[in-house]
Amino acid sequence: MTDAAALIAQEDRFGAHNYDPLPVVLTRGQGTFVWDVEGRKYLDCLSAYSAVNQGHCHPRLVAALVEQANRLALPSRAFRHDRMGPLLEKLCALSGMEMALLMNSGAEAFETAVKAARKWGVTVRGGLSAAEAPEIIVCDGNFHGRTVTAISASSEPAYRDGFGPFTPGFVRVPFGDLEALRGAMTGRTVAFLTEPIQGEAGVRVPPDGYLSAAKRLCAERRVLFMLDEIQTGLGRTGARFAFEHEPDARPDVLLLGKALSGGMYPVSAVLASREVLGVFGPGEHGSTFGGNPLGAAVASAALDVLLDEHLVGRARALGERLLGRLRAVDSPLIEEVRGRGLLVGVVLREGLGARSSARPYCEALMRRGLLCKETHDRVLRIAPPLVVTEEQVDFIASEVEAVLRAFEEAPTDAPEQGG
Ligand SMILES: *Cc1c(COP(=O)(O)O)cnc(C)c1O
Repeated sequence: MTDAAALIAQEDRFGAHNYDPLPVVLTRGQGTFVWDVEGRKYLDCLSAYSAVNQGHCHPRLVAALVEQANRLALPSRAFRHDRMGPLLEKLCALSGMEMALLMNSGAEAFETAVKAARKWGVTVRGGLSAAEAPEIIVCDGNFHGRTVTAISASSEPAYRDGFGPFTPGFVRVPFGDLEALRGAMTGRTVAFLTEPIQGEAGVRVPPDGYLSAAKRLCAERRVLFMLDEIQTGLGRTGARFAFEHEPDARPDVLLLGKALSGGMYPVSAVLASREVLGVFGPGEHGSTFGGNPLGAAVASAALDVLLDEHLVGRARALGERLLGRLRAVDSPLIEEVRGRGLLVGVVLREGLGARSSARPYCEALMRRGLLCKETHDRVLRIAPPLVVTEEQVDFIASEVEAVLRAFEEAPTDAPEQGG
C-alpha cells in the first residue's frame, strides 16, 4: 500500500489519536532529507524532536546497528556484555561526569533521576525527618516526558488533565527566575531539575547567567542541580551540552536521550557523581532493555559521529547563520525569533486569528518541501539535523520567509497552496 490517504485512514482507524501529525507519510530518510510514499522529498526541520542530530540513516549508525544485531542484541543485565563498559567510559569522558546509568527513553531517564535524587536526599545528605518527604523543584512549562511522575511535575493542562492522581513531591517555580527558586527552597528540597532551554515550551531561553547562579545556589544549599539535556544535549545548541554556554554550570545530574543514539534505537542515560548514582544497589532499579548491546553499539557510534564530523561546531556556526537570517526577516507576523545553535523558535504574533497558530505555516512549508512542527501553538520550531549544510540553512530561511509573505498577503487565514 503506497497510497498516502489510505495509509492515513488505516492509521487513524486502528491507532490511538495521541498525536496530530502533518498529513505526510514518510518512508525513507537520508541525512537531512526524508521522502514520502509518493516520492516527494522534504528537508527535515524537526529531526524527530532533536533525536536525529546525526542525520537520518547515518551509514556508521546503520553499520553499528546491523553488526551488533548479528552478534548479540539482548543478554539482559543478569550478565555483563562487552559493549557496556566502553560506552559508559566514553559518556563520562564526553560529559565530565563520574558515572552513567543507561535506560531507554527520556521519560525513564527522568524517573531514574527522580529516584536517585530522592534516595540521595534521604540516605546520603540527610537532614529530613521521617515525616518529611523529599521535594524536587521543577520549572513551569517544563517537559520531562509522559509517565505519570513526569506529568506530575508538569504545569501543562494538556499533559495532565484526566490523568491524576499525581505523584507528590514536586514544587514548581517560573523558568529563569532565580529569586523564585531561592524562595522555593526548604529543608525538604533535595534537587532542582530543569531544562537549560525549554524545547517543548517553545524554545524558551533563560536569562544569561541563570544556570550558573542556580548551580551556585544549589551548591550552597546542598541541593542537587539536575539538567534535563535530552533535547538540548549532544551538539544541538552549538555546544556539546547547553550548560557549557555558561561558566561553572555543570550539573550534578545530567539527563541525556534522543540524539544519544542518533534516533536509531532508544537509548537514554543519567550521568552523575559516584555519590549520587551510588545510591542504587542491586535490585533497586533497572530495565530489561536498559544498557543493551544493540543500543550501546549505536550510541557509541552516534557519539563518534558527533565528534568526528564536528557537528557541535557546525551547529554553532550554522545556528548563528539561521538565527541571523530569520531575525533579518521583517514581518508583522513575527513576534520574536529565539534560540541557540540549531534549536530555533519563530514566535508568531498573538491576536492574528488562525494566522497566529504555527500549524498552517507548517502545512504551507510542507507543501514547499520543508517539514517542521508547531510547538505550543504559536511557535514554529526549526531544528534540522546537525549535518545540514549552509545552502540548506539558507533554503530554510528563504522558505520560511516566503511562507510568511504569503500569509501577510492572504486576506484571511490560509493562503492558497504555494510552491
Ligand atoms: C523528549 C524529551 C523527554 C522525553 O523523552 P522520551 O524519549 O520521549 O520519553 C524528556 N525531556 C526532554 C527535555 C525532552 O525533550
